[in-house]
Amino acid sequence: MLASEEYRDIEEKIQRGERLTREDGVRLFHCSDIAWLGAMADMVRKRKCGDIVYYNVNCHVNLTNICTSHCKFCAFGRDCNEKGAYEMTKEQALALVAEAMHDPNLAGLHVVSGLHPTWSFDHYLGIVKAIHETYPQLYMKGFTGVEITHFAQISGLSVEEVLIRLRDEGGLQAIAGGGAEILADRVRDELCPNKATADEWLEVARTAHKLGIKSNASMLYGHIETLEERVDHLLRLRDLQDETGGFQTFICFPFLPKNTELGQSVKQTSVWDDLRTMAISRLMLDNFTNIKAYWVMLTVPVAQVALGFGANDIDGTVHKETILHDAGATSPTALSEDNIIRIIREAGRIPAACDCNFNILRTFD
Ligand code: SF4
Repeated sequence: MLASEEYRDIEEKIQRGERLTREDGVRLFHCSDIAWLGAMADMVRKRKCGDIVYYNVNCHVNLTNICTSHCKFCAFGRDCNEKGAYEMTKEQALALVAEAMHDPNLAGLHVVSGLHPTWSFDHYLGIVKAIHETYPQLYMKGFTGVEITHFAQISGLSVEEVLIRLRDEGGLQAIAGGGAEILADRVRDELCPNKATADEWLEVARTAHKLGIKSNASMLYGHIETLEERVDHLLRLRDLQDETGGFQTFICFPFLPKNTELGQSVKQTSVWDDLRTMAISRLMLDNFTNIKAYWVMLTVPVAQVALGFGANDIDGTVHKETILHDAGATSPTALSEDNIIRIIREAGRIPAACDCNFNILRTFD
């Protein structure tokens, strides 16, 4: 497929497998030929990882929505006495997992929570430890770079010590990708000044990778960032991946405005923007194997189309999503495995259930 003359040089680079520059990335964001962008991203996806699409049979566990950070784009965080604020006890967290265990294929957990003003690191750790000891067969993916930075700050431990305790006592096998938002101080100072900085988020990933713990990466886009800042964000991730190789998948999160402070002034992204951002992420992140189409945020139909725009990972069954539904996500709060398999097959691809480290558990060829 040939691009217009304007993009011929980039197409030739992609075909040769050559790395794209910052300038190429910015130019791609100004390309209006969405079909060409999709075709380029799909070609790279096929070359890099074939036709398998990964998914998890998993359960999300959000221990509390009480959070000191007050990020302007978040609809999940609450103050202690605010309506809808909750704190799970250890018993409630175990009960949630017990309920999810009714699915015989449940493979693991995704644990992320608010930055509670009075919970200690040992309190968070105690809950995941109890879950891990009760259900050692489930993989444990959890905590973002933001939460791990917070744990280090409130405990007086180093990031490395926090990670070691989460791994050795809590059974942590991989780190969640959230909290990266846009890795630019200008954006973070305005939207989320009370949590980990860009450098701190990257440092958690770097430290985890050094310890052999893999992590995911993400980008929350479609708010106050410029297109140049999106490209710079991808380049910061690409640079760290060159250094450590420890990122497993990249997730594009479109900003969902409902019930957020920022939602007063910013509208939701278009499907056009979602698909071009997916495609450009695949093209710029040439050292990432996996690019995720997170159906909860994109909606199921858009996530399915995104499989033709560079994605090879569609997240999981989730069990009961709450964080993004507080922000008006219109997708279901869970998907059955049969549904996920159907969605992937309809796209002409091969569904593969995997654990949090992309080890394949079974495929449906
Ligand atoms: S995005 Fe995370 S850190 Fe920010 S307010 Fe929401 S729960 Fe808290």
